Amino acid sequence: MVSFYPGPSRVHDDVPAYVKDAYKEGILSQNHRSDAFMKMAEKTVRLLKHKLDIPQNYKIYFTSSATECWEIVAQSVVTQVSYHLFSGAFGEKWYDYTRRIRPGATAMPFDREAELNPAKLKLGRSKGVICITQNETSNGTQVSMDTLKALRKRHPSRIIAVDATSSMAGVDLDFKAADIWLASVQKCFGLPAGLGLLVCSPQALKEAFKINERNHYNSLPFLNDMMNKWQTSCTPNVLGIYLLMRVMKDTKHIGDVHKKTMQRYQLWESWLESRSNMHHLIKNKAVRSLTVLPIEATPDAIATVKSKAAKAGFLLGEGYGDLKPTTFRIANFPALKKKEIEGLMKTLS
Ligand SMILES: *Cc1c(COP(=O)(O)O)cnc(C)c1O
Repeated sequence: MVSFYPGPSRVHDDVPAYVKDAYKEGILSQNHRSDAFMKMAEKTVRLLKHKLDIPQNYKIYFTSSATECWEIVAQSVVTQVSYHLFSGAFGEKWYDYTRRIRPGATAMPFDREAELNPAKLKLGRSKGVICITQNETSNGTQVSMDTLKALRKRHPSRIIAVDATSSMAGVDLDFKAADIWLASVQKCFGLPAGLGLLVCSPQALKEAFKINERNHYNSLPFLNDMMNKWQTSCTPNVLGIYLLMRVMKDTKHIGDVHKKTMQRYQLWESWLESRSNMHHLIKNKAVRSLTVLPIEATPDAIATVKSKAAKAGFLLGEGYGDLKPTTFRIANFPALKKKEIEGLMKTLS
């Protein structure tokens, strides 16, 4: 079964061989305070920065999931107010989890067809972290890099935190446009679930050290103290980090990966335009995600399509939440192969 689910999704073909290598190299029983682990952590961070174009002065932390990263941001960076700009379920969940830790969290929902306009944004106070879901996996929309850059320009001293869980490693992100980026590896990285990444700018760390919240095993200042020694505050997903290192070593630079994502996205878009029984859920092309395609159809058509796909060996993504009865989703993640995409298109045609 080839999984087109937008996470967990198809893993890279080489993953089974890498797991074997990890076993042979003794990684699976490696102590996380050992020199070997520290070297691996350092190398993984170096590869991530190089391949994804993350500024050298940003820091990267290993977590267990994107959800954990949401809570780290709430605990260690938000303290009082945060503004959550979202058009879908993941952004809303981030708001909801933050609100339970920091009651000052403020929801600023917007229509999924709408392009965010930083000039029109009214943020109450001079303080407060801006939280944005760059790629909203639930409804297949995205906030463009131009919008993020414009937001950065208008709010140079605010902390901007971005959930890029379903776009990091698939789309060329301009890391300088925000202070905190979070993701997990079961989407565009093409890896098994259980590892999250938190990327922080010097400005974000400065703020975290000013607040100096240290009540939790995953308080950001503590994570930073540990990462200065290439270590983590708890026993991490050592195999996950190893697999990430191997995949990052093999992958092309994000500029090239982005081009591939874009070409395949355009292939899907024109294919969809030629369908009569289904269409892209999002009418505004300017906000369509490059990595998650939400497709709207009648419940009957969806049932037919799903069973046809399953028979041909393809798993489609369910619609998310309220959209479940009337949509399904297709991942456009780098680990999927061209012939699999063509196979799925043929099956659905
Ligand atoms: C999948 C996803 C998450 C949750 O990721 P976990 O690794 O399960 O915590 C958060 N945000 C977005 C946008 C996602 O797509």
